[in-house]
Amino acid sequence: MDSSHPQEQQAETRLVTSGRDTKAQKGFVNPPVFHGSTVLYPTAEDLHAHRGEFTYGRHGSPTTKAFQETLTALEGPQCAGVGIVPSGLSAISTTLLSVLKAGDHILVVDNVYRPTRNFCNGMLTRYGVETTYFDPLIGADIEKLFKPNTRAVLVEAPGSQSFEMPDIRAIADVAHGRGALVIDDNTWATPLYHRSLEQGVDISMQAATKYIGGHSDIMFGTISANAKAWPMIAEGIRLLGVCAGPDDVFLALRGLRTLSVRLAQHHRSGLEMARWLAGRPEVARVLHPGLETDPGHAIWKRDFTGASGLFSIVLKPAPQQAVDTMLNTLKLFGMGFSWGGFESLAIPFDCDAYRTATKWAPGGPTLRLHIGLESTDDLKADLDRGFAALKAAM
Ligand SMILES: *Cc1c(COP(=O)(O)O)cnc(C)c1O
Repeated sequence: MDSSHPQEQQAETRLVTSGRDTKAQKGFVNPPVFHGSTVLYPTAEDLHAHRGEFTYGRHGSPTTKAFQETLTALEGPQCAGVGIVPSGLSAISTTLLSVLKAGDHILVVDNVYRPTRNFCNGMLTRYGVETTYFDPLIGADIEKLFKPNTRAVLVEAPGSQSFEMPDIRAIADVAHGRGALVIDDNTWATPLYHRSLEQGVDISMQAATKYIGGHSDIMFGTISANAKAWPMIAEGIRLLGVCAGPDDVFLALRGLRTLSVRLAQHHRSGLEMARWLAGRPEVARVLHPGLETDPGHAIWKRDFTGASGLFSIVLKPAPQQAVDTMLNTLKLFGMGFSWGGFESLAIPFDCDAYRTATKWAPGGPTLRLHIGLESTDDLKADLDRGFAALKAAM
């Protein structure tokens, strides 16, 4: 494949052309799945020197290399390396264990993915790292929360339940002035719609379980880092011994190849459904930064080139049992955790149960929706039935 000038191509093209070595694949378009632990060395001298493109299964294979080259090409020229880990949460824990040490302090956005918070409050506390949570809308005022030992700031934009948009550029400017690293959970937009590493982020993590896999059939995580952070991530991965199964790597690579068309459809259908829901009498508010009326819209427009299919709605006040009746009535919206697959999902949530730096008082029951690849006409009809059941149960 001609990938000699990959950065001159558009992202959609890079997703298709990168990481392909047609000759090594004997003409086949895709690399095979290398199942392997032992890698044989041709000579004792090579063995002593650990010489060879591949040295041991945990450290990579032609399948992982193809995935890493493709994601690196998507991230852009700031990306110095991509680490592969077994889940999105493992991307977060591996990153934090790689960059922090006892006595450090980390600032974490209050709308962060809840298991990230559990990791900070649980394991990081045990290892002598202190966490302070901050208001997602803090902007440059984050300066006030810095301590002499603040080593990193962790952001997520938008938060994957409440959808506030932190100003990552403003936060990164302050963090870099203080010598701290900026870590971003970029699962919602993926590097296709949010080029974190070009906007002041040092380490961009993804639950590739979601849109990169895209079919609800793998657990997978990635850590993309710039030249400053990559040596720490590479060492952390090596010391912790994390890697991913070859079939999952293959499926993640396959997902990357079609990411641009899937995400474009999630973007279109998501916005269409968000607008439709905003006009429904049962809905008090739609939380989607792609809507012009959303408080985070200006930041989204400045920093993102698209939205995915995940957003939330606040219903007008209704008893829990009526909302449950609505959920039980829906046929196309399944109930379950995770998202980013081809199918639509709906779950109730309550951020107030765990937030510490900010209050969450939406004023009604909240549902998070994932808009899949079904026809939006059918999805609207399904929600119509759900709303009718909600009203009947009140
Ligand atoms: C799902 C998710 C994760 C964790 O990913 P897993 O692959 O389920 O471990 C991390 N961050 C965000 C924002 C997520 O939605």
